[in-house]
Amino acid sequence: MHEVAIIEELIATVNEECQKNKIDKVNVIKLGVGRLSGIVPHALEFGFTAIKNGPLLEHCNLIISEIKPVYSCNDCKFSFSTNELCYTCQNCESRNVRLVEGEDLILECIEGKGA
Ligand SMILES: [Zn+2]
Repeated sequence: MHEVAIIEELIATVNEECQKNKIDKVNVIKLGVGRLSGIVPHALEFGFTAIKNGPLLEHCNLIISEIKPVYSCNDCKFSFSTNELCYTCQNCESRNVRLVEGEDLILECIEGKGA
């Protein structure tokens, strides 16, 4: 399952960050999930609850927000956000647009308590 690999990587990153910042217990992890990433937020939450273990993540809540796709036009430099897949600039109608945001999973924030 795709989501399991993602969660394992996420937990590894959180562990690392917590060691660096001397955090013993994580209360909240905030994630941004790109709408075009193909990741199902619900599956991610479910998987996280199943996989998380140990005192660090025991009481942790995963909060997922969706990131809308953002496009940038290579011709007029206009950038715009839309809920849909888009191939045409909303400003100049050029088809020379590229996706700059919305395919990624972003770890936005870790909230926790230190020793
Ligand atoms: Zn344009």
